[in-house]
Amino acid sequence: MKVTSVETFRVSQRLMFCKVSTDEGVAGWGEPILESRAGAVEAAVHELATLLVGEDPGPVERHWQRLVKGGFYRGGPVLGSAVAGLDQALWDIKGKVLGVPVHELLGGPTRDRLRLYAPANGHTDAELADRAKALIEAGYTAVKTAPEKTLDFVDSRRTVHGLVDRWTRLRDAVGDDAGFAIDFHGRVSAPMSRILLPLLEPLMPLFVEEPLPPEHQDELHRITSATTVPIATGERLYDRWEADRVLSSGIAVLQPDVSHAFGISEVMRIAALAGLRHVHLAPHCATGPLALASCAQIGFAVQNVLIQESHLALHTPGTHPMMRFVASPDSFAFADGHLLRPTRPGLGVEIDEEAVRAAAADPKYDVSPVWSHPDGGYAEW
Ligand SMILES: [Mg+2]
Repeated sequence: MKVTSVETFRVSQRLMFCKVSTDEGVAGWGEPILESRAGAVEAAVHELATLLVGEDPGPVERHWQRLVKGGFYRGGPVLGSAVAGLDQALWDIKGKVLGVPVHELLGGPTRDRLRLYAPANGHTDAELADRAKALIEAGYTAVKTAPEKTLDFVDSRRTVHGLVDRWTRLRDAVGDDAGFAIDFHGRVSAPMSRILLPLLEPLMPLFVEEPLPPEHQDELHRITSATTVPIATGERLYDRWEADRVLSSGIAVLQPDVSHAFGISEVMRIAALAGLRHVHLAPHCATGPLALASCAQIGFAVQNVLIQESHLALHTPGTHPMMRFVASPDSFAFADGHLLRPTRPGLGVEIDEEAVRAAAADPKYDVSPVWSHPDGGYAEW
């Protein structure tokens, strides 16, 4: 079997597919995407594709080594996302050729169902509480939220208590059996995190995410030592060496993104590394169906997975706009807040190629917001 072509389909700044075709009719699909940098990733995929076309797609790890290291310069989110999509597509081909889901090739299944969490946000405290309550009633056992506005490096007592009140109302809405996580999004400074986290301890959040932006990860130990709240990070760490920098900081949860961190092959290694430090994974997934399908294959192959993020409204099948590209409705079976084990071969998703091609012919340029403080200076989103 030989790879005959690598195509990309950029639907938006948050959604791009790649298709790796072969001379035997089997095609693998992946999702190489970096939100707001889709064009850069698309260009990288095409540069890397020259290493795949004409080759046997089977030896995934050999390809991974060549794709990651072959150009001499390596690392980072753009290359990480480009390689991730190709790695996913190669695993998809291997699973389809052998007739088994990827998690079985990785030693799974480790579980029968995978716990999910969904995003819950709202402009007002009441909107947030209503949204969270609706998700719990739909079956989820956990939701995640984030602060709605910019925060100053050191903000006011009113702001701090406003956030604590907001999330107290969230706890009341979800009840004591469900979990809620808070994404600080690198938006809450280190001094603010050290003030806020102890105040949140009575609410027992599932975890608090990214209390520091990635360039300050070496300071994480100052955050974890200030609180009993489980701390999560990792969506902006792109390989096992970057993950290694935070694993001894006292974090509880690591959140590699399987479409940013060099794919299924590397996230499996990151999971093993996290296991050395008794850290569990909650893979980041704020993009499309193949990113989620790749996360799911890891969730069913790895022991130390706490929970899986999903933005795709799996509790109301077919309603999320990104799900219109999935032609196999049984790929994401949802029950009681969990994803049931996918049983189709490969990544387990049949792509509606006609819909993908039509959408890519008219791509959307929906870049992530860039925020400012009231004084006009840059603010973390
Ligand atoms: Mg996040």
